[in-house]
Amino acid sequence: MAVAAAGCSKEPTPAPQSQAAKPAAAKAPARSHDESSYAEPDKVVVKDLALDLRLDFDKKEIAGTATYTLDWKDKAATQLVLDTRDLTIESVQADDGNGAPAPLQYALAPSDKVFGSKLTIEAPTRPARLRIAYHTAPTASGLQWLDPAMTEGKQLPFMFSQSQAIHARSWVPLQDTPSVRFTYSAHVVSRPDVMVLMSANSDPQAERDGDYSFSMEHPIPSYLLAIAAGDLVFKPISARSGVWAEPAMADKAAKEFEDTEKMIGAAEQLYGPYRWGRYDMLVLPPSFPFGGMENPTLTFATPTVIVGDKSLVSLVAHELAHSWSGNLVTNASWKDIWLNEGFTTYVQGRITEALYGQEMAEMEREIDQADLLAEVKDMSPADQALALPPLTERDPDEALSNVAYVKGSWFLQFLEQRFGREVFDPFLRGWFDDHAFQSATTDQFVDYLKKNLLPKAPNAVAPAELDAWLNQPGIPAFASKARSRGFSIVDTARIAWSGSAKLPSNQVTSEWVTQQWVHFLSGMGARLSQDQLKQLDAAYHFTGTPNGEIAMRWYPLAIRSGYTEAWPEAGRFIERVGRRKLILPIYAELVKTPEGLAFARDAFAKARAGYHPITTVSVEEMLAKADKSAQ
Ligand SMILES: [Zn+2]
Repeated sequence: MAVAAAGCSKEPTPAPQSQAAKPAAAKAPARSHDESSYAEPDKVVVKDLALDLRLDFDKKEIAGTATYTLDWKDKAATQLVLDTRDLTIESVQADDGNGAPAPLQYALAPSDKVFGSKLTIEAPTRPARLRIAYHTAPTASGLQWLDPAMTEGKQLPFMFSQSQAIHARSWVPLQDTPSVRFTYSAHVVSRPDVMVLMSANSDPQAERDGDYSFSMEHPIPSYLLAIAAGDLVFKPISARSGVWAEPAMADKAAKEFEDTEKMIGAAEQLYGPYRWGRYDMLVLPPSFPFGGMENPTLTFATPTVIVGDKSLVSLVAHELAHSWSGNLVTNASWKDIWLNEGFTTYVQGRITEALYGQEMAEMEREIDQADLLAEVKDMSPADQALALPPLTERDPDEALSNVAYVKGSWFLQFLEQRFGREVFDPFLRGWFDDHAFQSATTDQFVDYLKKNLLPKAPNAVAPAELDAWLNQPGIPAFASKARSRGFSIVDTARIAWSGSAKLPSNQVTSEWVTQQWVHFLSGMGARLSQDQLKQLDAAYHFTGTPNGEIAMRWYPLAIRSGYTEAWPEAGRFIERVGRRKLILPIYAELVKTPEGLAFARDAFAKARAGYHPITTVSVEEMLAKADKSAQ
């Protein structure tokens, strides 16, 4: 279902057909600039945000003030419109810098289920600065608050944000659109025993004292605003890179991610200097719903990629790649998200190739492509195009699919093959340089391509081929598929075993990396016999595996095949881990039978308190749908 071995920020789960692209609503949306935001950046834009916040773990609340520096584009404008979700606004004041701040009138519209509440502030004098006092709800969709019991160390509470796509508005009132960029600073107070970090050059030497200051000097879009707090310690990897994690995880994480500085070097060689200062990683508790999130200077990462052999560190390559594609050059709205994720998946492959070789990159591509081809079978044609239709009535999280990641990167590989790296690499670097710290649309990229790449070899790509990638459903028939030698070995071993019941020798399998085990299991077909499952389990200990990529494939196969011995460990896995990509396939298999559904309900009841709101919603939807079809 989701990108297999590769990391990706959002790890889409395919939307059910009923939620797929609808034609744009007849009524004119209030959201004209970016369908996912009420903001009106053609009238006024936030240039800088200064936060003064207090974290309250008991109330599960962030409270304080946000001060905005405004650039009024339209000299006749009289309102500032911001996005909010479940926020309580306490006051709004204008600050012209001359005398006492003046209170302003404001109105909070009724909440839209997808887009939240539009906050309209009357600002007839067009003040240069404006301050909002507010607090969050304990249910804020962009925050997760974890009791100590849900952490590794079990001593201190933990909290973290996940702002992409449109959840920043649940913890700060904002122009919550990727088309607006602002610099930010923050002063955050908390209980003194937790460390607070933000996506803003957190200081590895900072003293843990409950009083923290941050500054992000580069303009960022709202979805890259991030905060986390907990029992966090720092382990350096290089002068500009390191790992933050709970004490029990820190050494393991630093070892697993020890190649990070080499990755930065490989990316810089291809696409120019890393522009963000530090590149640190924060290892979150297992409840983090995604693989990673590319928060600038501080990637948030799932602990499930720490498997001991670095075989899943392409997640780091992916999040690091976002420092160019996404964070430096940003999709202007969420329908352009392939500009973030397709480019990043492509760059991730190049970094992986530079560090771990062509074969590793090819294996990851082969898994990704197979998953995508399976996924598009259930998708509406409009959603299979790179250029998505306007997301007028849709949650951008639901519209996101592997098309953005895998088809997007496949398109760039196609261009690379047609033009050659000596032409394509400088072209891509030029795209990043020429649009640095800007937001861009698909049309802008196509124009740039026509001006700067196509003329280099006028017959290399036909207009119909471009159209097939950008606007047509499916994968073009002329696209060349990834094919790795490492998987041929696995295929041979699997076929031999299913014919003769003779497993490959330890000498062969001891060399296998996660991707090869994934391929071994993926090719097993719908069901295996009890004897076959027992034999595999005895040889490879799949039941109880600490490797989530293997677990997410083994347990569904075992459940489908009626291998009940695997159920207790499958249950423990979905109770312990909250990363959607890894656990949803297991739930999906369980809910197909009445006994499985009952087991899934039970597991969910136990796991729920530790799940992130995003994971909870996904599992609830699956259980509700299973109930409905059981009736
Ligand atoms: Zn990503």
